[in-house]
Amino acid sequence: MKYISTRGTAPILTFGEAMMTGLARDGGLYVPQTIPVMAREEIAALAGCSYEDIAFKVMRPYLGETFGDDEFRALIAAAYKPFGHLARAPLVQMGPNHFLLELFHGPTLAFKDFAMQLIGQMMQAALAKSGERVTIVGATSGDTGSAAMEAFRGLANVDLFILYPHGRVSEVQRRQMTTPSEANVHAFAVDGDFDDCQARVKDMFNDFAFRDGVQLAGVNSINWARVLAQVVYYFSSAVSLGAPHRAVSFTVPTGNFGDIFAGYIARQMGLPIEKLVIATNHNDILHRALTSGEYRTNGVKPSMSPSMDIQVSSNFERALFHAYGSDGRAIAQLMDEMKSGGFHISQGALESLRSTFASGRCSEEETTATITREYVRTGEILCPHSAVGVKVANEHLGATPMITLATAHPAKFPDAVLDAIGQRPDLPPRMADLFDRRERLTRVPNDLGRLQSLIRERIAS
Ligand SMILES: *Cc1c(COP(=O)(O)O)cnc(C)c1O
Repeated sequence: MKYISTRGTAPILTFGEAMMTGLARDGGLYVPQTIPVMAREEIAALAGCSYEDIAFKVMRPYLGETFGDDEFRALIAAAYKPFGHLARAPLVQMGPNHFLLELFHGPTLAFKDFAMQLIGQMMQAALAKSGERVTIVGATSGDTGSAAMEAFRGLANVDLFILYPHGRVSEVQRRQMTTPSEANVHAFAVDGDFDDCQARVKDMFNDFAFRDGVQLAGVNSINWARVLAQVVYYFSSAVSLGAPHRAVSFTVPTGNFGDIFAGYIARQMGLPIEKLVIATNHNDILHRALTSGEYRTNGVKPSMSPSMDIQVSSNFERALFHAYGSDGRAIAQLMDEMKSGGFHISQGALESLRSTFASGRCSEEETTATITREYVRTGEILCPHSAVGVKVANEHLGATPMITLATAHPAKFPDAVLDAIGQRPDLPPRMADLFDRRERLTRVPNDLGRLQSLIRERIAS
């Protein structure tokens, strides 16, 4: 299995190389050259299997020679062992034909753990073999950073630096980033907002001398290995509701389009998914794009579902690549137009996108109202991101079972929940001491040179 860039000119890579590289050198995103299809009988045979077994069967064809079978099984086992639920991704029923896929039982209580836990294990195993050491730098608005700290702490061949906007993450998110005590993980509180953090990380990747000097690697949501790990729970949940004999639909609270793109891959692999519904908060660039054909930014407004507060959706480039018939040159041109604010999606590409995706938007008031209503109707406490999903899913219910992805635990966003139902959700008992642990962080100005010299110092010591 080989990986090509969505912009057509970067080197073709193996799975292991694409995982280590993250962003392609032509600015594009790596995608598999062909998508392996699972036969109906193979999908049917997943029924009753453990999450780990399904993970092995779904991901194996993508790995090429990077890992042996037994080795890969061991990495999967280690990745999902810290989860607080034996089913890993359990389904609960919300209504007659509506199910919630709880993706928040991992060590940092958000779905990011599914991919991050596995990529941590895979990177460490690959580096241990080659004897190399890498420096991972990532920007976060909260969930990615905490998941990465948890997944990489203590790994021998990796130094991890997480940049988060000082004062702009929730207390649970901050503590999850600042309380791991291992010497190879570092939390940097940057004086700026999330876009500043992300811009500084991009600057580091574009500074090829620095990039090669510190062996820079990325684990943000454009990393193909992360997308791949997320394909698994589309299979596990659909099969437990009767796939491949019965089709299902999914609604996905969407920001950078990584999670829902994994659903698209599952559909291309042969899983009978009728519709993938994009659910956005008031930062609705994707909903507007699908409705009007205009992909155009109009700024970010903070919301109570901050992990979906995005200006542009980086993984959407992968969906466009497929919709434009794998034409890298066309994608490079669209992304160039993006610099002046946006572009028009061609009629053919728009029709192709609409044959798979539907979309909806949820305002702040509707988010609160949904948390309240669903608590009364079902007893389930939704986090604000999941509430956005449930609200939009409710507008798309029909004869096909709908699975809505619950992307974070409500205790990660206690203020929004308190507003809606008058009580604070408890942290699961296994992390009840989070507020007693010692914090460790470095406050840094929003300055590329300063960040680079701090990183160089830390990895030398
Ligand atoms: C990251 C995140 C999302 C958005 O996922 P994308 O893959 O960026 O679309 C939604 N909800 C939560 C809780 C998240 O952490």
